[in-house]
Amino acid sequence: MKIKVNEDACIGCGACMAICDEVFEMNDEGLSVAKTNEVTDEEIKEQVKDAAESCPTSAIEI
Ligand code: SF4
Repeated sequence: MKIKVNEDACIGCGACMAICDEVFEMNDEGLSVAKTNEVTDEEIKEQVKDAAESCPTSAIEI
């Protein structure tokens, strides 16, 4: 699974980090970034999917 956060769309709400802090973290500008862009663990993949679906601006591409 490839993961990318569109920084132009992210509003820094924190939802993705609350759902999956193994992958998403806040950068110095208060926006989400993916710590890794390749996830293989099935449980983490599900969390990433939940995060992408929960993102209010659809900023997470998977
Ligand atoms: S859920 Fe979406 S808008 Fe909120 S911090 Fe994550 S990527 Fe940004």
